[in-house]
Amino acid sequence: MASTERSKVSMDTIVSLCKRRGFMYQSSEIYGGLGSVWDYGPLGVELKNNVKRAWWKAVVQERDDLVGLDSAILMHPQVWVASGHVENFSDPLVECKNCHQRWRADHIEGNACPSCGGDLTEPRMFNLMFKTFMGPVEEAAAVVYLRPETAQGIFVNFQNVLTTTRKKLPFGIAQIGKSFRNEITPGNFTFRTREFEQMEVEYFVKPGTDEEWHKHWLQSRFDWYVSLGMKREHLRLREHGRDELAHYAKACYDVEYLFPMGWSEIEGIANRTDFDLVQHSRVSGKELDYYDEQSGEHFIPYVIEPSAGVDRSALGFLVDAYDEEPDKEGTRVVMRFHPALAPIKVAVLPLSKKENLTKLAHDVHALLRKRWMTQYDDTQSIGRRYRRQDEIGTPFCVTVDFDSLNDNAVTIRERDSMEQIRVPIANLLNALTAKLGC
Ligand code: ATP
Repeated sequence: MASTERSKVSMDTIVSLCKRRGFMYQSSEIYGGLGSVWDYGPLGVELKNNVKRAWWKAVVQERDDLVGLDSAILMHPQVWVASGHVENFSDPLVECKNCHQRWRADHIEGNACPSCGGDLTEPRMFNLMFKTFMGPVEEAAAVVYLRPETAQGIFVNFQNVLTTTRKKLPFGIAQIGKSFRNEITPGNFTFRTREFEQMEVEYFVKPGTDEEWHKHWLQSRFDWYVSLGMKREHLRLREHGRDELAHYAKACYDVEYLFPMGWSEIEGIANRTDFDLVQHSRVSGKELDYYDEQSGEHFIPYVIEPSAGVDRSALGFLVDAYDEEPDKEGTRVVMRFHPALAPIKVAVLPLSKKENLTKLAHDVHALLRKRWMTQYDDTQSIGRRYRRQDEIGTPFCVTVDFDSLNDNAVTIRERDSMEQIRVPIANLLNALTAKLGC
């Protein structure tokens, strides 16, 4: 466990790198921006897609017991009545009587406004679901919600998936998608936003085996972050106290990451019992149980739910990758991304813009870009170009020089060690595949 309570890098450093290099931009910036809403730029979208791909590979592709789903954001309003969101998905809101800023009562200490010290109103419960209207008439009967979690799309499809896949317990359904919460106090860059993406598994098990499966998922999800290069000492599992548990949960743990603002949740892993299926069965009037051929019993499965944030984990991977070291020009900034997450895997850099060299460099680039996201860069000095690739976390640069014209070989330069090796172009794909491992 880490002895520090703060990561080495500040959030301002990460925000400015993200803006400067095109990972994230503020939404609608030319109109002054929309508060706490972010767009992913050319590198950010690659990082985010890589996070999602790595998750899908680990929980769907490499397992026999999970299948995927992509349910709609808009759902029947009764879904949110059954799930308890209409009644319970609220945070306590207080307002400063002096400056009128609003705060989440459980996020502030004391009972004075953190901004101006003014008196606060009594807390009132504020429902976090975004509402809109379906169809042309804005009336109560047309209200629909933007989903605040992807999980309910899985529960309402439980019988469909069971029937079409003929899966036996234990089995799970995985889904990645947008969720929306009208957070009272968003902030810390992309950590808490009103529109975000989740990666959720609902894992259905026989009651009585739930605690064992909960342990399995705690370990498996913790290991996933470590396998993608997150430092173990920047990760911890924290068990929820009785007073923190959601109304449906028997037990819950958070995977927490040591962000610049301190330890904060990137994933929640809850034992949701049979709460959701029982509720949907009751409210919809449909049977949502499971027939166990072995015992001849009908029962409603229990559910273990590992629920991760795409944006929060991407932010964690960004913070964790950040490194600075002294060099001849002052400071070398290196994003030490795991190769599977690096937005650009290989950059092709011809040493000069002479035509015979750029022709060969373009041929090499054409060879590599079929396999990976690559960049071709022939501007500025080679040193500047290496630094630029280091700052966006590109694991390998391939340099094409005048010797290449004679020996048909190029130099591979590795980001972290800056070591360079000479490789025949004929072996380049194999050499990079072995080094990248993806
Ligand atoms: P918090 O306590 O931080 O509000 P939560 O416990 O309500 O989070 P869950 O409902 O467990 O969050 O959601 C699962 C995951 O979805 C979280 O671990 C987080 O990664 C992500 N998530 C939830 N709310 C947000 C948000 N407003 N912005 C970005 N990601 C979010």
